[in-house]
Formats: sequence, structure tokens, C-alpha cells
Amino acid sequence: MALYVQKFGGTSVGSVERIKAVAEKVKGFRDQGHQVVVVVSAMSGETNRLIELASQINEEPTPREMDMLVSTGEQVTISLLAMALQQLNVRATSYTGAQVGIQTDSAHTRARIQRIETDEIREDLDEGQVVVVAGFQGVDAEGNITTLGRGGSDTTGVALAAALGADECQIYTDVDGVYTTDPRVCDRARRLSSITVEEMLEMASLGSKVLQIRAVEFAGKYNVPLRVLSSFEEGPGTLITTEQEITDMEEPLISGIAFNQNEAKLTVLNTPDVPGVASQILGPISDANIEVDMIVQNVAPAGDYTDFTFTVAKSDFRQTQRILQEKVIPELGGGEVRGDDKIVKVSLVGVGMRSHAGVATKMFRVLADEGINIRMVSTSEIKISVVIDEKFLELAVRSLHTAFGLDRDDVNEEKNQH
Ligand code: ADP
Ligand code: ASP
Ligand code: MG
Repeated sequence: MALYVQKFGGTSVGSVERIKAVAEKVKGFRDQGHQVVVVVSAMSGETNRLIELASQINEEPTPREMDMLVSTGEQVTISLLAMALQQLNVRATSYTGAQVGIQTDSAHTRARIQRIETDEIREDLDEGQVVVVAGFQGVDAEGNITTLGRGGSDTTGVALAAALGADECQIYTDVDGVYTTDPRVCDRARRLSSITVEEMLEMASLGSKVLQIRAVEFAGKYNVPLRVLSSFEEGPGTLITTEQEITDMEEPLISGIAFNQNEAKLTVLNTPDVPGVASQILGPISDANIEVDMIVQNVAPAGDYTDFTFTVAKSDFRQTQRILQEKVIPELGGGEVRGDDKIVKVSLVGVGMRSHAGVATKMFRVLADEGINIRMVSTSEIKISVVIDEKFLELAVRSLHTAFGLDRDDVNEEKNQH
């Protein structure tokens, strides 16, 4: 008998039929004698719908009220799933995050889990119940409802699995595992049978939304066996492993391609190239709690003028532009602001990159051969990211995917036959 935490995403509970199908699946595990804690997201589209409602009433709603609002989506699905299980004669009880003791800090809309009380869950499990928990939400020390950031139900699942010492945390979604890149953008993508925590973290932080970053962090920190699987078809899915477990396999150079369409680029042209400029530009932006991702400053001869370019989340684009125009430029005593939100950041990820020079050169050549202009570059030991025009996303991902040998075997075989 094993203890599983099973998380079902928005599409998997997107209709009454699908909720019933989830109940059948959970029943199957119960019938085999396993204990099951189920974490569910809101029905697909629901969280976006709620956010849209708020925006029709108030352009800048307080984060506390936003959390109060968006946490309702998950309350609908937990109760419906518990009813569906009961309909199948499976004993089940649903709980909100607060009820089940998911304690977080007070950073509304992006709260972090601090503690989970497991006594009551264990009692229910020992009585033979399925415990159904609302994903994405918790409660702070003052009793306010908090949420964990978009995609946060993954984190609820992994954190619960860690707290309960579950045998496996299973993330059921609308793809049958983690792929070399988003299979919706590149149909040659290959499902990975396993991926290291380190690489998955990098993929998640560079834009692959198949798992929320925090969930992967938790899995790494607490050694939670984590698997991504399809809600709709049987299969082994993808295991997220600690690095040691696959050292005997030959490490491929590149394990995946991630992309992020949620960033915008800002440039301050012709700023004086003197000490302190970078902090003069970025200071007021971080004061406004806006996170900056990539930063590039052109080199200029001493005493000359330079350009300073950086990226922020698309949702912060307008505000950042305003801060630059109204605060930064007057203080710098010169410069011109340019903005572009039609960009995408494409990244190659792989721990195998560490020991190989030339990955960047090859990446640039592949993009150049397709006529794709690179706007910005940043590198680390296990990734290379470039910013390009949004319209080239598919072309870039597909050509890099092929060039770095990531295409599915059957695609390669087909190519060889021609
Ligand atoms: P859920 O609602 O189940 O949490 P998400 O939409 O958050 O599902 O995440 C699943 C989606 O992640 C897939 O439909 C796919 O389009 C996308 N995705 C992005 N990158 C990858 C990848 N490397 N492997 C698999 N799916 C990916
Ligand atoms: N419903 C939330 C969202 O859409 C949480 C989740 O799905 O994981 O972001
Ligand atoms: Mg998700």
C-alpha cells in the first residue's frame, strides 16, 4: 500500500464529465488499497475569468481581495470532486487550504508555504477516506486567504507530498509528461522519461509552465519523488529525479528548449556612460517592486554615451515605461526610452552544456541561417537565452530543436528515408 498525492490541473477538471473521470481514476487507486490525497486546480479558464471580473471593477485591486476572489475557483472543484467520489461510493472529504492547515506568509498573490499541519489529513486517510484539497491557496498567520502564484496548485501538491512523506507526487495534466519543448509549439518534441531537478527548475524558470518553479524547488529540497503524467491516457510520464540517479546515462548536451512570451524589453538610448547609471536606471524600478530579468549594457569608449537594455514582465511594461520617462530620464539629464513587448525569450537548457564550448555559437548560427535577428543574449552554466521577435518563436524553436538533435526518433527516421 502506498500513499499518493495526485494533483489534477485545470483542463483535467474542466467539465463535469472530466471531474467524473478523475473520480474514476482516483477510485482505481483506492481499489488497489492505496491512500490518496487529491489536489485540484480551478476549472480551466476560471482563474482568468475571475481576474477579468476584477479588472472590470477596479484597475488596481488590493492583493488581499484578489486572493479572496481567485481562491474561489478551487473551492468549486474540490466540492464537485468529493461529490463525484461519493457518487462512486468512495468516502471523500474536501478541504480548503486554510481548513487543511496550509500556512503561508502574507505575500498575497505570491505567498510561500511555511508549514502544513498533517494530523487531520492522516486521520482521514487512516479512516479510509480520500482527502481532496484545494490547490493554489493557503492562509496567513492572521487568517487571511492567500494564493501561491499562477500555477500554484502544483506547489500545493508537492508540498503536501513532502509534509506527508508520500511515496510519489503525481501531477496529472493535459500532456503525457515533460517534453524537450512545449509540444504545442513543436510537434517533433520528444517526451523525456526523466529529467533532473536542476534542469526542470531551469526549464520552469525560463517559461515552461508544465510545472510551477516552486513545486520543483520543493521536490528538490525535500526529495519528493515527482512525476508528470497525462490525465487522459495511461503511460509512465516523466520522472523528475535528483541528478545522481541518472549519472550512468550519457548526458545529452541540451535537454530542452524553453520559451517565455511574458516579457517586454525596454531600452534607454544615449545615456551618459558614467559610474552609477545602471543603478540610477534600475533603482526606481525595483523601488516599484518590478522585477528585472535580462540586462545588457553596450560598451562605449570612456566618456561617451551608451545604451542600456533590460526586460520586465509584460504586465509591468507600461508602468516601467512611465517610471523611465517621468523619473529616470529627468534625473539622468538625457536619454531616450524605447519599448518593445512583441518579443520572446528562447532558451536552451542542459547540464551537459557545462563541459562543451560552442553551444552558443551553434545556436547563433542556426538562428542566423533562418534570418532571425538576436536582440539580447544571456548565459549561465546550464542555459543560453536569446531574445528575438515574437513572430519567430515557432521557427526558432523548431530549427533549434532539430539542430540540437532533440527531434523524436520517428521524425528522424522519416527524414532519413527521404
Ligand atoms: P495544468 O492546468 O494541468 O496545470 P498547464 O497548462 O499549467 O496544465 O501545464 C501544461 C502545459 O504546459 C501543456 O499543455 C503544454 O502546452 C505546456 N508546456 C510547456 N512546456 C512544456 C514541456 N517542456 N513539456 C510539456 N508541456 C509543456
Ligand atoms: N487555478 C490557478 C491558476 O490558474 C492555479 C493552478 O491552476 O495551478 O493559476
Ligand atoms: Mg499548471
